[in-house]
Amino acid sequence: MAARHDQTTDPQLLDSLLQARRGTAFFARKLNELSDSDLDGPSLLPGWTRRHVTAHIGYNARAIARLIEWAATGVETPMYASTEIRDHEINFGATLPPIALRHLFDHSAVHLNVEWRDLPEEAWHHLVKTAQGRTVPAEETVWMRTREVWTHAVDLDNGATFADIPVPVLARLLKDITSAWATRGTDTGLQVLVTDQQPELKLGDAGADAPVLISGPLAGVLRWATGRGTDGVTASQSGAALGAVPAAPKWI
Ligand code: ZN
Repeated sequence: MAARHDQTTDPQLLDSLLQARRGTAFFARKLNELSDSDLDGPSLLPGWTRRHVTAHIGYNARAIARLIEWAATGVETPMYASTEIRDHEINFGATLPPIALRHLFDHSAVHLNVEWRDLPEEAWHHLVKTAQGRTVPAEETVWMRTREVWTHAVDLDNGATFADIPVPVLARLLKDITSAWATRGTDTGLQVLVTDQQPELKLGDAGADAPVLISGPLAGVLRWATGRGTDGVTASQSGAALGAVPAAPKWI
């Protein structure tokens, strides 16, 4: 019989798993607060209804479960066969009856959790490939899922905000985003200042002469950095406030 507790004993990984599970529970709560007809309403993501967001989170769990099966068996199973198939799957999922859509979310989350729970300690280091083609150890899937469930709970647009997301998740996500900008060189002349953390956190183009400085609390900066609005952040250059906050560079 399968064990009822995590096979890994790595405290850091167990902590990450807790963050992913809490995020899943948070998404479930926001989803369950929505009536069936609310699901037809728009999400914060352009062109996507709440149905699309829910379908995406469900299929994302299945895709990540495939990576865990890969790590467990050594048999290569990609997250998605192709980007087209991924998008098609989400569009199809969005048309499911509400009960089926809710089951998709619930069952896929339980399945992924079982895959994680039963993955032997040493298999967490086995290498798998993300949808973007990055080769990562299986333990990275926990973070991949964590950022999906927390940010897309906000996208359901029924009350969740970035301020609901735990600080360690926000901080890691901001690091992900700013390093994606740095890798692509899209952050030239741009700096980000997080004002509500001790010590203050400054990221972005460190060598810029007169950088555009975006500042605000961590939650506001994340909201801006993920392209979800400019509330709670201000922009300045050489000490002078800018009238409008520029859009953040793309990161995904
Ligand atoms: Zn997503």
